[in-house]
Amino acid sequence: MKIILAAPRGFCAGVNMAIDSLELTLQKFGPPVYVYHEIVHNQYVVNTFSEKGAVFVNAIDEIPKDSVVLFSAHGVSPAIRQEAKDRNLTALDATCPLVTKVHLEAIKYAKAGYTIILIGHEGHDEVIGTMGEAPEAIVLVEDEDGVEALQVADESKLAYLTQTTLSVDDAEKIIRKIRERFPGIESPPKGDICYATQNRQEAVRLLSGQADVVVVLGSQNSSNSQRLRELADDGIKKAFLVDGPEDLDTANFSDTDTVLITAGASAPEFVVQSTIAWLVERFGATVELASIREESVQFPLPKLLRAFAAETRSS
Ligand code: SF4
Repeated sequence: MKIILAAPRGFCAGVNMAIDSLELTLQKFGPPVYVYHEIVHNQYVVNTFSEKGAVFVNAIDEIPKDSVVLFSAHGVSPAIRQEAKDRNLTALDATCPLVTKVHLEAIKYAKAGYTIILIGHEGHDEVIGTMGEAPEAIVLVEDEDGVEALQVADESKLAYLTQTTLSVDDAEKIIRKIRERFPGIESPPKGDICYATQNRQEAVRLLSGQADVVVVLGSQNSSNSQRLRELADDGIKKAFLVDGPEDLDTANFSDTDTVLITAGASAPEFVVQSTIAWLVERFGATVELASIREESVQFPLPKLLRAFAAETRSS
C-alpha cells in the first residue's frame, strides 16, 4: 500500500486562532467557559475541551448570568451579541476574520438597499450568523433550483455572497446560473470561499486521480470536510469521511491500494497520524508527502486575550 499524504490539510488559520482562544480563555478565567456552538466542527476538539471545562451551548439563555462566553469560529448574529450583553456575560469573539468579512459585506449591501443572495447551506452556524446581520435583506440559495425559484423585487440592486466553506465547483455553477438570471448582479471583488477551503479542495482535485481510496479526516457536521469527500467521490473510487481510524474498516482497503489522505480545516493532525499508523500496521503502507502549496496565514487573537497571551508566553 502507498499513502499519498496531501498538503495543505487540516487546521487553517481561523481554527488555530479559535482553538488558541479557547485554551487561553480557560487559563485566564478558569472553567467553566461557555462556548456558543461548537468551537469548530470537530468531535475530538469538542470532546477535549469539554474535559477541560468548556461547556458548549446552542442558546445564550443556557448560560448563567455573569459568566464568560466565547463565540465560535463560525460567527454570530448581532441578536446573539445583544443577548449575551443582556445576560451580563463577558463575551470573547473567536469568529474567523474571513467570516467577519462576509458579515461586513452583508451589512454594506443591506445598508445600500440591496437584496443579497447568500449561497450556502441552510442551518449551518455560519449561514445563521451571516443572515442575522440583515435578515430582511438576505435570501438563502442552496442550489441551482433555488436560483430558478428566486423572486426579487428590484433587480437593479442585487448582490450575492457565499458561505466560506462551499465546494468551489458547486458555487461556480450556482453563480453562473445567478448571473444568467440577473446579469447586472454585484459581488465583492474577491470571492468569499476562503483560502483554506480552496487549497484543500485543489489538493484533492490534483491528487485523487492517483488514488484507489480517499480518506478525509473530519467530522460529519464539518462543511469543508464534507465537500472534500464529495470531491473525491467520483463514483468509482471509494471516499470516506471519518473522525479517526476507529471508523475505518479493513475490508475497504487492500495491500496494493494507493490511499490519498487529507483532513478538513477543523481536523487535528494527530488523527491524521493515527490513521497513517493504522494503515501502516495493517497493510505495511509507505507514505509519500504531496504538497501543492505552502500556507502561512495567521489571524490575531481576540483583543481581550492578546495581553494575557503575551504574558503567558514570556513567563
Ligand atoms: S475554514 Fe476558512 S473561513 Fe473557516 S475558519 Fe478556516 S480560514 Fe476561516
